[in-house]
Amino acid sequence: MASPSAKILRARYVFPVTGAVIDGGVLTIRDRRIEAVERSASTGSAEDLGNVAILPGLVNAHTHLEFSALAAPLGEPAMGLPQWIERVVTWRRQTAATATDPISHTTAVRQGLADSLSYGVTALGEICTVDWDQQPFPEHAVACGLFREQIGLTADRCQASLQTAENWLSDFDRRCPTPAADSPTGQRCPGLSPHAPYTVGFRLLEPLCQLARSAGVPIAMHLAESPQELEFLATGGGPFAEMLDRLGASDPSAGGTALRPYDYLLRLAEADRALVIHGNYLDERELDYLALHRNRMSLVYCPRTHVFFDHDRYPWEAALARQIPLALGTDSCASNPDLDLFAEMRWIASQATGPAPAQVLAMGTHNGAQALGLDSQMGALEPGKLANLTVVRLPERVSADPLELLFDPQSQVIRTYVQGALRHPERES
Ligand SMILES: [Zn+2]
Repeated sequence: MASPSAKILRARYVFPVTGAVIDGGVLTIRDRRIEAVERSASTGSAEDLGNVAILPGLVNAHTHLEFSALAAPLGEPAMGLPQWIERVVTWRRQTAATATDPISHTTAVRQGLADSLSYGVTALGEICTVDWDQQPFPEHAVACGLFREQIGLTADRCQASLQTAENWLSDFDRRCPTPAADSPTGQRCPGLSPHAPYTVGFRLLEPLCQLARSAGVPIAMHLAESPQELEFLATGGGPFAEMLDRLGASDPSAGGTALRPYDYLLRLAEADRALVIHGNYLDERELDYLALHRNRMSLVYCPRTHVFFDHDRYPWEAALARQIPLALGTDSCASNPDLDLFAEMRWIASQATGPAPAQVLAMGTHNGAQALGLDSQMGALEPGKLANLTVVRLPERVSADPLELLFDPQSQVIRTYVQGALRHPERES
């Protein structure tokens, strides 16, 4: 029998994700966790949320929150990635030159966390370019995998980056201590992020992967993102080589030629868990390799950022056919108008030749949690998991397919619960 401390929510539909949708579903929460998911509550008084769907809290598996205060993406749609990277470098230098930094950085991250909650996101995979402290963000309930970014082609830069990575991991528990049981702060999990093949060669990648393995932390890398990256790997030349020359960051001894993303996948597989960010231009052999390592390697697709750069069609069919865990990310507000992961899901579901809606739902929830190594705690509505929930208001019409209602253009995220507590909006309306 449910005790008075239990919270019971009723909805038109409950989507457990790992089980069939429940029409007229009821979800019981006790001590921050899901106690039961069923068709009707046998005891206790439920709060009827009305014409809504309850989903597991959404997972945004790839963000750079430092850009969250941007009013619009940097650059222009369909621009080449090397040119866009130069715009980012220029923006960073201008921002760093202002007297308000690092306060502006903290403000942007805080805004990104708040925006994420408003979009129903309860966990994210964040690429950090500075060492995060818990202290500036104690009130934020969003769980974060914090992947400390590393860049370095020259020998000196590689050494400095490796030292930064070692310090990040050894100092993490002091910087981000495990929240107390009654704290609103979400989990913080350390990780490492070698940036991309055109900024990280094997002499930095290999020790970073070994470090991730010995520390038991995940690793995330932008890979196979653009045709220019493939050209750089194959020839050592092209727009990325020219960009590195202009930035004074190239080192002829760092790279090789006749390389493919495959050569990077072999190294990333050394880590316990790896997130391959984008993977827009992976070939058959590379997808086969990911499939072989599907229990600990995930692909992260960033749909609207993909559209921003006008990349070739994403290989989602080939990935899903191979049962590669495909998660979703927004990437940053430097290439996307916002951090709305539900908008990413709805966009994919609206594509005539896109994945099935049930697959889209799993991509935005369970697969993201799996990518971050948090799937034992979240990503599905199952007894024992944390009560991280996204509540979506549905259109006032009847449909034989609840998923069609869920991804209707009028559907809207209206509430976000983290560990059983309402976090967005802060008060019930
Ligand atoms: Zn990114």
